[in-house]
Amino acid sequence: MFFTNFLLEFILNNIDIKSKSNLKFNNFAYQSENYNFLKMKFFFSVLSQFSFISMILSQNFNTYPLYNGKDLGVTFTKTKTTIKVWSPIAEAMTLRVYKFGNSIENTKDIPEEKQMKKNNQGVWSADLMGNYEGKFYTLQATIGGKLMNEATDPYTKAVGVNGLRGQIIDLAKTNPKNWETDKSPLFLQKTDAILYELHVRDASIAANSGIKNKGKFLGLTEKGTKNHFKQSTGLDHLKEFGVTHVHLLPLYDYFTTDETIKDNTQYNWGYDPLNYNCPEGSYSTNPYDGNVRIQEFKKLVQTFHQNGLRVVMDVVYNHTMFGETSNFNQLVPNYYYRQTADGKFSNASGCGNETASDRAMFQKFMLESLEYWVKEYHVDGFRFDLMGVHDIETMNLISKRLHQLRPDILLYGEGWTSGDSPLPEERRSLKKYISKIDKIAAFSDDMRDGLKGSVFEKEDKGFVSGKPGMEESIKFGVVASTQHPQVNYEKVIYAKAPWAAEPFQCINYAECHDNHTLFDRLENSNKTNTAQEKTKMHILAQTIFLTSQGIPFIHAGMEFSRTKKGEENSFKSPDDINEIDWDRKKQYEAEYNFLKSLVQLRKAHPAFRIPSTKLIQKHLQFLDCPEKNMVAFRINGNANKDKWKNILVVYNANPTAINFDIPTGNWKLVLDGLKIDHDAKTLVTAKRLEVQPYSALIIVE
Ligand code: CA
Repeated sequence: MFFTNFLLEFILNNIDIKSKSNLKFNNFAYQSENYNFLKMKFFFSVLSQFSFISMILSQNFNTYPLYNGKDLGVTFTKTKTTIKVWSPIAEAMTLRVYKFGNSIENTKDIPEEKQMKKNNQGVWSADLMGNYEGKFYTLQATIGGKLMNEATDPYTKAVGVNGLRGQIIDLAKTNPKNWETDKSPLFLQKTDAILYELHVRDASIAANSGIKNKGKFLGLTEKGTKNHFKQSTGLDHLKEFGVTHVHLLPLYDYFTTDETIKDNTQYNWGYDPLNYNCPEGSYSTNPYDGNVRIQEFKKLVQTFHQNGLRVVMDVVYNHTMFGETSNFNQLVPNYYYRQTADGKFSNASGCGNETASDRAMFQKFMLESLEYWVKEYHVDGFRFDLMGVHDIETMNLISKRLHQLRPDILLYGEGWTSGDSPLPEERRSLKKYISKIDKIAAFSDDMRDGLKGSVFEKEDKGFVSGKPGMEESIKFGVVASTQHPQVNYEKVIYAKAPWAAEPFQCINYAECHDNHTLFDRLENSNKTNTAQEKTKMHILAQTIFLTSQGIPFIHAGMEFSRTKKGEENSFKSPDDINEIDWDRKKQYEAEYNFLKSLVQLRKAHPAFRIPSTKLIQKHLQFLDCPEKNMVAFRINGNANKDKWKNILVVYNANPTAINFDIPTGNWKLVLDGLKIDHDAKTLVTAKRLEVQPYSALIIVE
């Protein structure tokens, strides 16, 4: 029964798509058709859909021949261009070569058409003799007697405006000057990373950024830019703040921002992937020529490298903007996506579809795409969106290949999904299985929500804002979610067991692009506290993750109390919600200077960056506290070759100052309130020290 219903639904859904494609490609005079003709057309359309669907459903994906070659997409030379696409199920494949990258403004652009030829591995290929540099192309499959939509080649490395057509380019010409000598800054241990999550447009779009190329890749290559108070912004700020890795929100070509509109005010985070192997056009100064966005992103990478910054890309292979009508699906229907038991697109991404990393040709696609960004663009790491959608085997393979290519690569992801998946739970790359995934880290929602409260309950509090019973969650964060004899795992907010095998598998944070910023959360959760108290809580949260083991992660602008004016989900909110307001750097100058100094402290002291669980167990010891809502620990014995013998850290989340008994020793003061003395010049003579409300204290010997 359900099968019939499903077929009917599928057919009805597809009629719409088919009529659209007819309209688009056959120049069909739809309005002039009479009613009977329409009825007849509907009948035949249902019949053809039926045979098409029966054909797809009868296919077993495991019987599809696989292709191991690394030349899918375009192979360009000045005398010949070869284009290859995998589609074992197609009966025919048409290549169209255009002069322009879109049809809307260039209706008289009559394409050169070529029928491609298939080999026994399901690969269609065509040779274009002569120099095709700069030309655009599309692919159109015929499957089960049905003419599919014209698609952009998923493997294409360049696209025209809005990513509608692939472009044949000479990649060598996209390299900025001295690209061959481009070198990433030194990065030895993964726990040395201090991550900074930034959206390309947010960085520069505000008037007070002082940046000329607003909202563009090039905006982040400008030097000497200032806010209204002559403080540095953009690139100079990143350098001054001292983070090691800038994690950029999606910068591959995504759908929602219309690139044809000059100075478009439309905003999107970019979690709506279109063309995985091309940079986003709205971030370039010319989205029509595929070369420009490539050159400009390379320029950003090169400039960051020259300024001591590494680049991490946020990658969203877990779903595509479109399901049914996506490029992948128009070339090999259903293959690249998982299905529910009744044959529909499954939705572990929460975005309408989920890709199938467990199928060979999508796994291959992910691997080659990631390798390509590393080799061609010199990218230093990846953040995997909804990594739980990908299978563990694929993530291990990715880690292996990328570490072979670049031992200093940094890989991490969200160890969860946004919905159920047909992939068995034990195969998903979830946070709780991260110890089975080699050298890939997961975000710690235990630390995040332990610090400020659940992201799903907007008035919930956490350790820094006055929720009792959060001490073990903070201790869990301090040891980077690893096994430690002094942590009571039963009392940890979510994980009831250590999930990181090694500290570099844990990303500690309090805020990211999702949900309220910490500033906005505190406005919701702590209405009766003063602004000064909330600022202290805000700083304490950052102090905690910046003095914890593992990898700290800072959301851009957090260092000067970023607000999104109360907006919880700003993925398509206007600039005035999302932009970095650089004048806040002045407003929160003392706090910013403190955090900048704390970043320096972490970088100067390897004891905060211990590389193994075993060494954390050996050197880090928690101490009893005189009151609740406090956590104290010592890092002993010149840990990780630190010049300080012993470090004592105390967090006090109480609204009052608390006296803390100092163990016997020759202690010197380093951090108290907003003051950091890197040289530890002041000897602590008292037997007990006051830890200020919502503050931390660090003494060393
Ligand atoms: Ca785009």
